[in-house]
Amino acid sequence: MKGKTIVVTGANRGIGYEIARQLLARGSQVILTARKSEAAQAAAEGLEKDGLKPTAQVLDVTRHESVEALSQFIQAKFGKLDVLINNAGILLDQDTEVMQVDLGTVRTTLETNTLAPLHLAQRLTPLLRASASGRIINVSSGMGALTGMGSDHAAYRLSKAALNALTLMLAATLQADGIAVNAACPGWVRTDMGGPNAERPVAQGADTPVWLALDAPQNLTGKFVRDRRVIEW
Ligand code: NAP
Repeated sequence: MKGKTIVVTGANRGIGYEIARQLLARGSQVILTARKSEAAQAAAEGLEKDGLKPTAQVLDVTRHESVEALSQFIQAKFGKLDVLINNAGILLDQDTEVMQVDLGTVRTTLETNTLAPLHLAQRLTPLLRASASGRIINVSSGMGALTGMGSDHAAYRLSKAALNALTLMLAATLQADGIAVNAACPGWVRTDMGGPNAERPVAQGADTPVWLALDAPQNLTGKFVRDRRVIEW
């Protein structure tokens, strides 16, 4: 099989869909995942109209059995995985300040934005070890940077700061396996999450995750990257 085998989570819309599109256009085997079967199918059909051939799979990143089923599917069909892109994310609390944020909202946000990438890394690392150049890319946000941390969007910021910490932990532990682990900030992007006033088109938001997946040197690991450049945590 030609091209890298790459899983993209939350790939039915927004930045994830565009990441999948750009990777497919460059010859990768993309496992396009979405939490709803119809959404995965509709996204795959959209890409097929452009002559691209994704492999659509259902994946709710917060459901244990869903992650297990994806892992078994990849093992059976591909026998290995080259890149995991943890893109799926939620922003539930908008401008909520840290003193007002509902703890249930914090827990739900952490489940999707932080614990799910950890679970996927744990479950898919055996498949990444079978690759000659395994990579994990966590789609994070400048809102998770400790440098310049604010108190608005409290649940979201906390989840992305923790995702950044997880990136460093995974990078350290997987270095011995030659697996690179980095966090990417897409910038403020015009998607359902970013809204219509965001600065960047979706193609620009997808650029750095795609670069980290296909072009970055394999020894670039444990970094926070925006616009293909290392930024402060
Ligand atoms: P989006 O348009 O809201 O899309 C989010 C995607 O995540 C959707 O496909 C959604 O699926 C999926 N998702 C959410 N929960 C899921 C779950 N439990 N299982 C599987 N998929 C799930 O957001 P986006 O702007 O493309 O954001 C993509 C990533 O970039 C996120 O991690 C976000 O935090 C990050 N980011 C975005 C911006 C921005 O300005 N847009 C800035 C910085 C970082 P459904 O369709 O089923 O809901």
